[in-house]
Amino acid sequence: MTDTASTQGFTFESLLEAVQPETGGREILDPATGELVGRVFVPSVSALDEAVATAEQAQPAWAGLGHDERSRLLALAADAVEANAEPLAQLLSREQGKPLNGPNARFEVGACASWLRATASFEFTPEVLVDDGQTYAELHYRPLGVVGAIGPWNWPMMISVWQLAPALRMGNSVIMKPSEYTPLSVLALAEVLNTVLPEGVLQVVAGDGAVGEAMSTHSDIDKIMFTGSISTGKAIIGSSAGNVKRLTMELGGNDAGIVLPDADPKAIAEGLFWGAFINTGQTCAALKRLYVHTDIYDEVCRALTDFAAKVPMGNGRDERNELGPLQNKAQFDIVDSLVESAKSSGAKVILGGDPDREAAGYFYPTTLIADIDPQNPLVTEEQFGPALPIIRYDDVDEAVDLANSLEVGLGSSVWSSDRSAAVEVAARLEAGTTWINSHGGIDPRIPFGGAKQSGYGLEFGVHGLKGLGQPHVVVG
Ligand code: NAD
Repeated sequence: MTDTASTQGFTFESLLEAVQPETGGREILDPATGELVGRVFVPSVSALDEAVATAEQAQPAWAGLGHDERSRLLALAADAVEANAEPLAQLLSREQGKPLNGPNARFEVGACASWLRATASFEFTPEVLVDDGQTYAELHYRPLGVVGAIGPWNWPMMISVWQLAPALRMGNSVIMKPSEYTPLSVLALAEVLNTVLPEGVLQVVAGDGAVGEAMSTHSDIDKIMFTGSISTGKAIIGSSAGNVKRLTMELGGNDAGIVLPDADPKAIAEGLFWGAFINTGQTCAALKRLYVHTDIYDEVCRALTDFAAKVPMGNGRDERNELGPLQNKAQFDIVDSLVESAKSSGAKVILGGDPDREAAGYFYPTTLIADIDPQNPLVTEEQFGPALPIIRYDDVDEAVDLANSLEVGLGSSVWSSDRSAAVEVAARLEAGTTWINSHGGIDPRIPFGGAKQSGYGLEFGVHGLKGLGQPHVVVG
């Protein structure tokens, strides 16, 4: 632990060296080229017990520091991320595939620092529940103990910070279990954060799903913060009952956007594009099905195609690119097969849809599909990639019914030149968040979470902090 921001300035090479085993390990390949990025040590399930023992030992002293000191250290951790931003972004770009430029790797590392700093800054004091002269009651939030954080591969550093920052702020120790696709990014992030944090408070066990499962059944892990697919989320809910573990579930989505007839197609094209294609579509709360009123359908398709055709996709190290490859072959195949099912149903490809399946990188071209049946699998399943179905509707009630017809409800959006008309439609949507004239923008002060099978529990802001504490009412 240090009293100042990290004095250790990593280079890309020294950071990679710090997180790799001296010999052996599993190869991690660059999804843009197939080239070797590095190697990762794959711990067995038994390594988890050791990590839990360390976390249990470190937690009381960390909790004993109190909110002010923990916040000070989290702010220093933000400084350390900023001081090492470029090597972190380089590693993230090579392992995850996302370009350095645009709303991608450098943006993600920047968000890690902002989220750490914001989480450190929130006022958090006991709440006076009743004070009427006869009864006095306060609500406190105590640390839970050891928090297990299990993450996905799409925004590996940023989502790790969403999990670890509030957990640490509330006095818990944390064990991270990154996705097997992006372990180096999370190990590197922890390496930088641990130049500032006390030993044992933040650890990474970079194992596979079996380690994740062992975390969910572990009797000495008190809470799981999980971000990932609905099927894994359900498995964790089932296997975590043994010690009545607390859970925050940030699961999959299939976000709907509704464009009302009075929207201005040219004005909204850029927002629609980035709402759907940020991180090359590999974003939980990205716009994944777009419902457009028939009066402006052709104009919206044209404006979106014009914008989308100009956004460059390619190797993330080339500063011009703003879209990258899919992170892995399995995800490439999901997008490919969903687009093929749309094509064979007679839907119209207005952009893309013609991947080079023999290329070394998992590049799937930016794809827009028009005149598609609302029940086509490209619409009803989470494609999690750069392919957007655009569905025509005649009547707003029909669009709202279609938007609400799935078992998921993470984000949603309404696009209109009339804010109050949009707010009325927003009130009818079943989702954790509805954006007006934008999609997917997040803010560390504004709570975020899912409806229906997109999960439960809130992240961010004071609501997020409460999810990492044990409520304790003191009366009298
Ligand atoms: P995934 O469910 O396959 O894997 C997520 C993590 O769970 C990985 O670390 C994996 O090793 C681990 N895991 C696998 N089996 C496990 C088990 N039985 N018990 C415990 N852990 C286990 O998800 P993914 O493919 O990495 O991520 C993509 C999904 O995540 C998409 O559905 C996306 O929508 C969702 N996601 C949601 C949010 C959100 O905030 N709601 C954010 C990002 C991604």
